[in-house]
Amino acid sequence: MPTLTHAYAAHAADRNLEPFDFNRRDPRPDDVAIEILYCGVCHSDLHFAKNDWGFTQFPIVPGHEIVGRVTQVGPEVTQYQEGDLVGVGCMVDSCRDCQACNDGLEQYCLNGFTMTYGSEDPHDGSMTQGGYSTFVVVSERFVVGMPNGIDLKSAAPLLCAGITTYSPLKHYGVKAGHKVGVIGMGGLGHMGVKLAKAFGAEVTLFTRSESKVEEAKSNGADHVVVSTDDEQMAAVAETFDFMLDTVPVQHPIDPYLATLKYDGTHILVGLMDPIEPAITGMNLIFKRRVVGGSLIGGMPETQEVLDFCAERGITCDVEMIDLNDINEAFERMKAGDVRYRFVIDMASMKDKAA
Ligand SMILES: [Zn+2]
Ligand SMILES: [Zn+2]
Repeated sequence: MPTLTHAYAAHAADRNLEPFDFNRRDPRPDDVAIEILYCGVCHSDLHFAKNDWGFTQFPIVPGHEIVGRVTQVGPEVTQYQEGDLVGVGCMVDSCRDCQACNDGLEQYCLNGFTMTYGSEDPHDGSMTQGGYSTFVVVSERFVVGMPNGIDLKSAAPLLCAGITTYSPLKHYGVKAGHKVGVIGMGGLGHMGVKLAKAFGAEVTLFTRSESKVEEAKSNGADHVVVSTDDEQMAAVAETFDFMLDTVPVQHPIDPYLATLKYDGTHILVGLMDPIEPAITGMNLIFKRRVVGGSLIGGMPETQEVLDFCAERGITCDVEMIDLNDINEAFERMKAGDVRYRFVIDMASMKDKAA
């Protein structure tokens, strides 16, 4: 029997999220059925609900930072059993058989990965629906295990914000002795600071607002630069090995390129729109600098970031909300009024469902 699931869904770009009941499929042979305990609220959730990228199919249940407890497993599942605490991030499927998938880089699947919400399920053609809900069914390949002792609430955002910042730091070999800049102090940026510090780097946070200077330092940044202050920017010219750019809206890149050493790397993890204003080629060529992008991380690396954070006691700073407060949370997130991630406590929905 399919499982009746209580959720909040967006039904149109100009409407608030509203209560929405739907059925989750029975587990397929390799599926894990999960009762959702917590779900983080990511900026992408808001973009999807508002159809900012133009391809949202309504109704849509957002949420891709899911932590829950296994209630049932299919007969072919080997890694998980009933009662296990698990997580689901931004992907729930891929072709599982291309070079990228075989390399554990399912996010770069040559045939396209299946998003946790808003994608067509390749097996039955239904639309996937995310974690603003009481229950989810996911193939075990796309499920990660919660390490013993990890705080489940603050672990939820590691499944998107954490892996998104961890993956490029790891890929580009950030280590002790490196100077790393992190641009933006939101959900991604504050994790970027903590993780870059854990990799051994000296970390500078770039923020537009003077008001975030103390806050950034209390989150572990060694230095803070107010990016709107030309003098402060000039003082860090040709300083950094690596720049992690978490800003999700268009912003000038050239001023940050000037702060990179020769061979420095500037990685975008938030901006989906065209780079505007354009980058000046000379700023790349004359110092052999690189500008690139990075998308979440593969499944092995997603497990790795959870284990890494559990071992080192690294947590995401979260503010807990009830699911029926989601529209207010969206408004506050839009205004930058969250330190640093909202996480939905799904217990609020269970009471209602009973
Ligand atoms: Zn996300
Ligand atoms: Zn693939």
